[in-house]
Amino acid sequence: MTVDERLEALVEDRLSSDGRLVVLSGAGISAESGIPTFRGADGFWTVGSTVYQPQEIATFEFFMREPPVTWAWYLHRRAACHRARPNAAHLALVELESLLGDRFTLVTQNVDGLHRRAGSGPTRLLEIHGNLDRVRCSANCGGATWPVPARFDDWEDRRQLDAEELDLLACPHCAARGRPHVLWFDEFYDETNFHFYGAQNAAAAATLLVVVGTTGATNLPMRMAEIAAGRGTAFIDVNIEDNVFRRHAASDPRSLVLDGPASHWLPRLAAAVARRAGSS
Ligand SMILES: [Zn+2]
Repeated sequence: MTVDERLEALVEDRLSSDGRLVVLSGAGISAESGIPTFRGADGFWTVGSTVYQPQEIATFEFFMREPPVTWAWYLHRRAACHRARPNAAHLALVELESLLGDRFTLVTQNVDGLHRRAGSGPTRLLEIHGNLDRVRCSANCGGATWPVPARFDDWEDRRQLDAEELDLLACPHCAARGRPHVLWFDEFYDETNFHFYGAQNAAAAATLLVVVGTTGATNLPMRMAEIAAGRGTAFIDVNIEDNVFRRHAASDPRSLVLDGPASHWLPRLAAAVARRAGSS
């Protein structure tokens, strides 16, 4: 069988009338839209004579020390995300949602908002690392998030915010500082902000789990894969490079490795699901 035929057979077997599809997306799908990861040299941030590294900036501890620098870095990243456009992979996920309805859940590690901009519905989208377009209270007073004010949409890439700009980002409820709605390296997943249980429940209910463009460096995606594996859920890894999910898929006869870009494979997955929907 060709890989395309195996994909077709897996969809037929796993997404019959009550089958549920869960897709977990990561940085690879954003990279295909030209968004850098900001984890290496592309994320270095120079303020005066000091060079900050992404792993340093992306912490709660650093934010409390240098909020004007943290915010400038995130607004710079946000501007890069706004210049990017959703690609064929994002659009295929929108199509899968429209084909499967409540039998589809999209879990994403990406904070760039491209899934929303492509048209993925908010109720079936779990942003487990947050979203650069949202702000939340640094004192955690209520759990709600709010949009980054429009004032920052044309961010001009200065190295830090001034006091007046910081005040615009303050919490509307308790006046504590507003912070980027993202998960930092020195923080933990929770349900309110990051769907810690929602994502695991989705993985437990899936009959097919598709992992796209992620190398599994963080804890929650690994946990989802372990839950799915423990239940005998079929598994597809879509990636241009080797990763832990791929090694699992390669060793499991029910599972499939799709080597290549998400923008190549996800439209094929959507087409296979559409054919199945048409024949039932
Ligand atoms: Zn507050």
